Amino acid sequence: MSLALFLHERGIRARIIDKKKEISPYSKALGINPRTLEILEPYGITKRFLENGRKMLAANIWKGDKLIVKNELSKVGHRYPFLLIQPQRETELILLEELAGRGIHVEYETQFMGFEKKEDGYRSVLQGEDVTHFDSDYIVGADGAHSDIRKQLNIPFEGFRYKETWELYDAELETQLPADEANILTFREGGMILMRIKENVWRVAGNLPGLLQHLPQTTRPGKISWSTRFTISHQVARTLVKDRIALIGDAAHVHSPIGGRGMNLGIEDAFLLSGLIAEGRVGAYEKLRHRYLRSTVKRVNTLTQFITGHSFLHRTVRNNLGLLKPFFPLGLPRARKFLLGLDRAL
Ligand SMILES: Cc1cc2nc3c(=O)[nH]c(=O)nc-3n(C[C@H](O)[C@H](O)[C@H](O)COP(=O)(O)OP(=O)(O)OC[C@H]3O[C@@H](n4cnc5c(N)ncnc54)[C@H](O)[C@@H]3O)c2cc1C
Repeated sequence: MSLALFLHERGIRARIIDKKKEISPYSKALGINPRTLEILEPYGITKRFLENGRKMLAANIWKGDKLIVKNELSKVGHRYPFLLIQPQRETELILLEELAGRGIHVEYETQFMGFEKKEDGYRSVLQGEDVTHFDSDYIVGADGAHSDIRKQLNIPFEGFRYKETWELYDAELETQLPADEANILTFREGGMILMRIKENVWRVAGNLPGLLQHLPQTTRPGKISWSTRFTISHQVARTLVKDRIALIGDAAHVHSPIGGRGMNLGIEDAFLLSGLIAEGRVGAYEKLRHRYLRSTVKRVNTLTQFITGHSFLHRTVRNNLGLLKPFFPLGLPRARKFLLGLDRAL
């Protein structure tokens, strides 16, 4: 949706198809970072997001009930010095409305089945109520982690999957944890993150079996509005572009939700690609984006390992956080920039 929006502003028409019936009812991605807010600002969307979402002002690391470190995002030196918390469904609804206002509609229940190369572009086969064909100059695979387009191009999705299962809950909590801050709780056997979504509803996610039993003693869970289990993969497509077909979003890269970069990276991909399509140099997308995506997924992996305590090294660091406290000021600005997507100019 964001790609169609960016292309529209550059005078290029996009057709969006999606095989599902409608947008997902689940909250999924919660964090919209300053880089994304910056990108969407000229389209009037950031203003709507800011009116609707909530500001997350700091990220805290706890060991048991002891606060070890507070990373204040306001110190980042940016006009949006926070992570905006807004459930993905609400983000998508706003994008849908903004697109509709520009005469662009997502065609749901329409599946991309395949394509053939023509002299001047592509002919795609679409399955809706009937099978139809569609001619275009470009194809963009924004079709998620299991991307059919990536598979049809025989592009390997390189990386690995952790075996352990994560639990996720959107639940009402009675708690004394700071409400407008992300709270990372580390335990000997793993970790969890708690972030308030709105009112008294919080996102709780982590790799400890029976997660809600590990909540701090002063925290009580109430009604659960969504729960799911998932495993984590860290993968990047071997190439992002073939001829005039490009991959963006989860079709190009997946990683753990720790760090909240997934949806934000996808919107950045779309922004960069829209400019390159407009300039007729889509091939440059590979060079301008691939290395950064690989290094970002690597850094998300390090962060994830720190929280889950997967490796001996990360476990040791985590279990001795108190001793390392004097060194935290050195790492905080870098961590802040990464979390806010400001680790590199676009
Ligand atoms: C629990 C959870 C928490 C998360 N938290 C964050 C966060 O805080 N911040 C963040 O930035 N990200 C987060 N993410 C990641 C974020 O949700 C994803 O990165 C984002 O949804 C990816 O968007 P996408 O459009 O690339 O892919 P998707 O959202 O997967 O959309 C792909 C679409 O393609 C359609 N499709 C697939 N195949 C076809 C086909 N053949 N024909 C037609 N349509 C097709 C699918 O129906 C789907 O609608 C989180 C994810 C989860 C699950």
